[in-house]
Amino acid sequence: MQIQCDCGKFRAELTQFPKNTPGRLICYCDDCQAFLHYLKRSDLLDENGGTEIIPAYPADIKIVAGKDVVKCIRLHSKGMYRFFTSCCLTPIANTDPARPWAGINQRMYVTKDPTILDRELGPVKASIMGKYAKGTPPAGTPQTFDFKGMVTVMPFIIKGKFLGKAKHSPFFDNGEAIVVPKVLSAEERSKI
Ligand SMILES: [Zn+2]
Ligand SMILES: [Zn+2]
Repeated sequence: MQIQCDCGKFRAELTQFPKNTPGRLICYCDDCQAFLHYLKRSDLLDENGGTEIIPAYPADIKIVAGKDVVKCIRLHSKGMYRFFTSCCLTPIANTDPARPWAGINQRMYVTKDPTILDRELGPVKASIMGKYAKGTPPAGTPQTFDFKGMVTVMPFIIKGKFLGKAKHSPFFDNGEAIVVPKVLSAEERSKI
């Protein structure tokens, strides 16, 4: 499975898709919203400010083109590493060198094939952090995390830790991000 940014300069191979993913998730948290506003890509948020993420293991991602257009921000000094492309400002993934988790943005999957997620994964499985949603999110959205979210995500994380899937991330080299992340100041954050 190839994923790519809007313009196609950045492309990556997901070697285990549609295996090794917990499925489609929606995060309504303020950081995910701030990230897309920072990129001026609020067009990728749903009507309640949700971001759709389809996680993969870092070890299952191979960058095949466009490593030179990869950029990274962190909203806080301890925040997730949020990678995006400088060519067309497409969010790539939210990740961290220590976790078997790369939360790949839905956009990366559907640029070339808009129905791939419906065909391969079916509907969204779980949503989190509804307390930050704009307006009223869909019925059943938890304020933070709920049991449904846990049972969707925990087996993926446990299996990933067991198999060492945080290692060999294409986004990190010996624990250091492949591009120096820009850490936003409180002032920059408040602007977005
Ligand atoms: Zn691009
Ligand atoms: Zn979030």
